[in-house]
Amino acid sequence: MLGQMMTRPLSIIEILRYGAECHPGGGIVSVRTEGDVHRETYAEAYARAAQLAHGLAKLGVQEGDRIATLAWNGYRHFELYYAVSGMGGVCHTINPRLSAEQMSYIINHAEDSVLCVDLTFLPIIEALRPTLPDGLKLVVLTARTHMPESDLDLLCYEELLEGQPTTYDWPDLPEDTAASLCYTSGTTGNPKGALFSHRSTVLHALTVSIALKDGLKEGARILPVVPMFHVNAWGLPYSAPLVGASLIMPGAKLDGASLYDLMDNEGVTAAWGVPTIWQGLLAEIKKRGSNPKGFRQVVVGGSAAPASMIEAFEKSGAEVCHAWGMTEMSPVGTQGLLSAPMKDLPWDEQMRLKAKQGRRLFGVDLKIVDDDGNALPHDGAASGELYVRGNTVVSGYFRNEKASAAAIDADGWFGTGDVAAIDELGFVSVQDRAKDLIKSGGEWISSIDLENIVMGSPKVASCAVIAVAHPKWGERPLLVVVPEEGETPELAELHDLLMKHVAKWQLPDDMVIVDDLPLTATGKVSKLALRDRFDDYKLP
Ligand code: ADP
Repeated sequence: MLGQMMTRPLSIIEILRYGAECHPGGGIVSVRTEGDVHRETYAEAYARAAQLAHGLAKLGVQEGDRIATLAWNGYRHFELYYAVSGMGGVCHTINPRLSAEQMSYIINHAEDSVLCVDLTFLPIIEALRPTLPDGLKLVVLTARTHMPESDLDLLCYEELLEGQPTTYDWPDLPEDTAASLCYTSGTTGNPKGALFSHRSTVLHALTVSIALKDGLKEGARILPVVPMFHVNAWGLPYSAPLVGASLIMPGAKLDGASLYDLMDNEGVTAAWGVPTIWQGLLAEIKKRGSNPKGFRQVVVGGSAAPASMIEAFEKSGAEVCHAWGMTEMSPVGTQGLLSAPMKDLPWDEQMRLKAKQGRRLFGVDLKIVDDDGNALPHDGAASGELYVRGNTVVSGYFRNEKASAAAIDADGWFGTGDVAAIDELGFVSVQDRAKDLIKSGGEWISSIDLENIVMGSPKVASCAVIAVAHPKWGERPLLVVVPEEGETPELAELHDLLMKHVAKWQLPDDMVIVDDLPLTATGKVSKLALRDRFDDYKLP
């Protein structure tokens, strides 16, 4: 028997309409590439999204068209998210840190018809132009007064909006209509596109908002350091107007001092980003002796948050939520806030739980399997490849049948490529990406575990552990360290630190000191680049 209820399609523009109507105090503060700070309410953003939709329609944009963005976090980027999806188009966010080759591949693969670009990224497009589709229209995200000199045929964003009506007859789209497209950085082969729908996006916004309700709520002021060009800034541009939180968009300056000043000036209550960003902020907090005022929560994900970082934030008065996910999951899959009874546990026990990657969001199913595909128990000990299923997980990749077929198992689960254990409480511990695990004499060593412990040394600023070929053991771990200024950590003292937690045979065979670690396009340490660099490394 069927229920007798209306079925209205879930729609992204409805989020902003709701935010505009019901959260009049909420809005977007943006540090502009032009240098000043801009403020707009959700009601203003909703009106401008309508103007933008008219402007794009005038350019010839139709339902299903891909509109690309190459932009920092800011209000114009936010308006594009809503106008493009609202009119039935697909907002294709491009990561400016991709290589020129990858960028031109994805623009051609997606067949973008318009590319909206921040002033700072224009040189990238000037260099790429010969490899891009002829008909691609270029819009610069600025006002007429800031339009640059260029050999390219450029349109001005503010001129597109000028004089257009502030309402738009948003079409009633089926809820599985594609809304946004994000390519994963692709450590091997070409990047693969995750094509999010209105339905998956709205459900993701709802489930993330419920799970993080302490920090993501009306009146909160959230700093998305995680970029809008990387998996929709973890969905914040959708969750924030839904709950009535404001977004404080940092623009291009992401160093510790700039972030600290912005947070302090704007009363940021929660900040979201990858661990590498928080190292800079923590150093600044240490320097200035206190947290930016009002700062109460930090959401860390994208790669493992070291225990030392979690403890430093918690001691400073900012609660840590360690989250895990991936582009293919919209992206948040788990989050690590503690439930009420867990907050009564001893501090050390709480920190032990927080160092794990948290528990699943509503609607996300998790399983770990052995090499033969058998499900393993959730007992905290067994570990295997992590598979996921749910309304916010991709069912394949955009225009890539081969990769789509390989991604989903016979029972319809998506293989994450991560190796993890899940404990009785439901907390996931990600041990490694399968390809980053070190296989020594047939036994696995988790690079994340070793890195996490080494990061606890006050002499270490950042580090990575990679596999290096070994004639007897197959692979052995090599520790690569960036020391804190003026420090020279010794391998023996790091071994002492490690030996408190891991077996002797898991200790790194050697250590190299470097000035910095190579980062991927999403700001994570690039193990691939490190492995290439130390390919011929001779262990002692
Ligand atoms: P990219 O592949 O472009 O780096 P993703 O952001 O999709 O993009 O990367 C997802 C991967 O990042 C996950 O599969 C996992 O390996 C890693 N990851 C994300 N969050 C965490 C975390 N909290 N701890 C450990 N690894 C993480």
